[in-house]
Amino acid sequence: LVAREVHGSDSVVHVRGIPFGGKQLQLIAGPCSVETAAQMDASAAAVKASGARLLRGGAFKPRSSPYSFQGLGVAGLDLLLEAGRAHGLPVVTELMDVRQLDTFLEYDVDVIQIGARNMQNFDLLKEVGRINKPVVLKRGMAATVNEWLMAAEYIAAGGNHNIIFCERGIRSFETAYRNMLDVSAIALLKRETHLPVIADPSHAGGKAWMVPALSMAALAAGADGLMIEVHPQPAEALCDADQALDPQAFAQLMQQLAVLAPAL
Ligand code: PEP
Ligand code: MN
Repeated sequence: LVAREVHGSDSVVHVRGIPFGGKQLQLIAGPCSVETAAQMDASAAAVKASGARLLRGGAFKPRSSPYSFQGLGVAGLDLLLEAGRAHGLPVVTELMDVRQLDTFLEYDVDVIQIGARNMQNFDLLKEVGRINKPVVLKRGMAATVNEWLMAAEYIAAGGNHNIIFCERGIRSFETAYRNMLDVSAIALLKRETHLPVIADPSHAGGKAWMVPALSMAALAAGADGLMIEVHPQPAEALCDADQALDPQAFAQLMQQLAVLAPAL
């Protein structure tokens, strides 16, 4: 169902009227984690002012250590939705557990993110396949493109075709940066599927300074948009502090990208 051979032309996935996979590039931005009302308000203001159209923020966080900040949970959804609605930005947030799905639907989360660590959580994929909310499906950090396509197939097989792929970097032997942005996979996926493909340069490089270069590489490879971590005070972020752009750096990046993609 997700293969290009089934559906020749590009499919557009609409999020509250915002098209992913059309001619326009779409930017999703916001902090790694929802922390406070003030942090979310400042993030949403920065995202909006720079021209990005969707707000991200994790309420349920898949942290490597159980002792790290796990996210605010349902209270985080409240703050995310409040900031998004106040600034007119649809929201994207990660669903980690099927037991939270009803809550996500009650809150009317606009886009459900399936994180890298859950790309092959097949029960979770089947559940989001049964609803009609747009899904951002991140690539597992050690998943092949074919496994990624099959993960999307699980969602589509349930009837939900509103899938946006997100390349977020894969594990390599290199230790000098967090993950390797697989630009080859972006080019390949654009050929193999009719669905939109975006990239997350923040989790790929893991360093704020690397985000502009990786953003441009992703767009050059054919990405339909980007998901970027932005925090009003990156040094104080409770999660992924090294890779978050501050509002000024994000505004500057958006200007750079507008040169490449005038429609932005
Ligand atoms: C995130 O978007 O904050 C995140 C945890 O991403 P990933 O699943 O790609 O690691
Ligand atoms: Mn993060």
